[in-house]
Amino acid sequence: MKEQMTDISSILIANRGEIASRVIRTCRKMGIKSIAVFSEADRYSPFVGEADQAIYIGESSPAASYLNQDKIFAAVKKTGADAIHPGYGFLSENANFARRCQQENILFIGPNPEAIEAMGSKSKAKNLMKSNGVPVVPGYQGRDQRAETLTAAAADIGYPVLLKATAGGGGKGMRIVHDQSQIASALKSAQREAQSAFGNNELIIEKYIASGRHIEFQIFGDQHGNVIHILERECSIQRRYQKVIEESPSPVMDDDLRQKMGLAAVRAAKALQYDNAGTVEFIFDDNTGNFYFLEVNTRLQVEHPVTEAITGLDLVQMQIESAQGLPLALQQNDVQGKGYAIEARLYAEDASNDFLPATGIIQRFEAPSNIEGLRIESAIRDGSEISIFYDPMIAKIIVWDQTRTTAHRKMSYVLQHLLCLGITTNQELLLHILGNSDFKAGRYNTHFIQNKLSLKSLGEKSMQQTAFAAISVCLFRWRQRNGRRTLLRSLPSGWRNNFYAPQKETYKSEDQTVSVGYRAKKESFEFLIADQTYDARLISGNQRDIQIEIDGFRHHFDIAQKENAYFVHHAEGGTIQLDLQERFPVNESEKIAGGYESPMPSQIVKVLVSKGQSVKSGEGLIVLSSMKMESTIEAIEDGVVEEVYATEGENVQAGFLLLKIDKLNR
Ligand code: ADP
Repeated sequence: MKEQMTDISSILIANRGEIASRVIRTCRKMGIKSIAVFSEADRYSPFVGEADQAIYIGESSPAASYLNQDKIFAAVKKTGADAIHPGYGFLSENANFARRCQQENILFIGPNPEAIEAMGSKSKAKNLMKSNGVPVVPGYQGRDQRAETLTAAAADIGYPVLLKATAGGGGKGMRIVHDQSQIASALKSAQREAQSAFGNNELIIEKYIASGRHIEFQIFGDQHGNVIHILERECSIQRRYQKVIEESPSPVMDDDLRQKMGLAAVRAAKALQYDNAGTVEFIFDDNTGNFYFLEVNTRLQVEHPVTEAITGLDLVQMQIESAQGLPLALQQNDVQGKGYAIEARLYAEDASNDFLPATGIIQRFEAPSNIEGLRIESAIRDGSEISIFYDPMIAKIIVWDQTRTTAHRKMSYVLQHLLCLGITTNQELLLHILGNSDFKAGRYNTHFIQNKLSLKSLGEKSMQQTAFAAISVCLFRWRQRNGRRTLLRSLPSGWRNNFYAPQKETYKSEDQTVSVGYRAKKESFEFLIADQTYDARLISGNQRDIQIEIDGFRHHFDIAQKENAYFVHHAEGGTIQLDLQERFPVNESEKIAGGYESPMPSQIVKVLVSKGQSVKSGEGLIVLSSMKMESTIEAIEDGVVEEVYATEGENVQAGFLLLKIDKLNR
């Protein structure tokens, strides 16, 4: 036990992304200097700029940077940091790292190394909990790992059983075994996976809880022997044994159950002489109402904001104070939850394709403003690159409200209006979950996503949603071509209307081709898409969004453009990507009167023809240069050059009329 409080004035954050930003915020609030470390891939990440000081520590792969203890300690020496906050993941649950901090005289903001160590092995953890009166899932967690012993144990427990890697975490290396015939091969493959993922092939076996809910308790201890729990979080909405949505209070919780589970959580923490923030995870059997210890996470949890939202506490501040040796300012009776909180994790992944992680550049990230009780924890901003090196979680959305129903309504609203353009995310899946009647009623278990939702159709759009998006992109582009003239009304009369037949544009969305025809009328545009006509009036717009009245309804579209890709967001229709199909060398014959226009903003490099000259189809007319790329506009039919409007060296907008060809025998 500490005699007195350790004074600190700076904290190095041995982590990245949203959790680094989160810790930096509390450091600032407390007047503590924050020091970020960053890898190659994170050089331009927001957290690096947010810290008071930031230091490069190595290549992008975690082993060369965030997991590399020597590099972290070298950064500590260079910056003179007093303490290390490990965040979650990386080195946060590495007992050797915590020990090395002690040796190097750096304050480790986390529990004592013995507690981390004791929970690092699932078998040791279960044995310790069992002997301290914490209920554990019936199972086998012995040292004897011979196949016949494990097979006999599985039969004893009774199928179905769950195999887990003793050294496991993050849901890796788990296998459900339904009957005796599968056990031999399941053991072999689980051992192989455990060995390669954790360098240790030992397994534990548990009774498989068919309808289980993941309910965890936030615990907190100080260095003076005080331990409390800070209520529960329900985290059953999972994919691949990893959390997607968390809420508190849990829909199944009542005072009596909370009392019992909270007591078990505190008992678990006391068994570890726990002295910082931690989480005791339980599996709650929906069929029997029994609950069992799963594990203790000896660190701050991703979903800690849910607890902060209902209690008003700052868990990072409490972590820092506890590590400094301050006694807990709260007693169990002081802990009161108020209202209701829910967190949704925005992942860069394709929920319709087995949750395949997505990479790419985020063109725009923007949360709706003026929403009371909304908290966004994100690792990204416009232009951020999601790389292959790190976790696909890119933001956490947390909302608070008085009741579960109103908080859910608010979360749906936020998710509908949230912009994350340019990359595939699970935004639609999250909305889908929130809209599900079983979820609304709180009737769900850990299999909810897999069993209750149809994932394949996520991302599919109706014809109307696609048509609206296409209209918005056409008018967005029309606006770009016509500069500041945002209102049709201000166009000179007779504008191009007489000159051209309807404009034609073709887009690709997923595998679908969307052909759009449109023409300007006096005050609005007439669109023809898939045999449907729409009357669209461009109300206002800029480089980011556009308002259009379509058949009398006002619609708001947010748009981001990357070359020929347009990312369109509409609150009702979701996000759609439309890829403009190059007009050249597409046949241009729809245009009457042989007008040739510039397909993009360009410089006229060379005019190859002159007025009165005869040209053959395919002959070069004008050479343009755009974005360092030269392209030649070619004649699409035989004819005579009627007029040349382009001059060499001139910069022209997309849509600028370059020349006109009079077709022979027209
Ligand atoms: P890890 O350490 O890999 O995260 P956990 O033991 O915490 O593994 O379990 C992760 C998830 O797996 C839980 O949230 C739950 O969904 C499921 N799970 C774990 N144990 C059982 C069990 N005995 N029966 C049914 N589901 C389980």
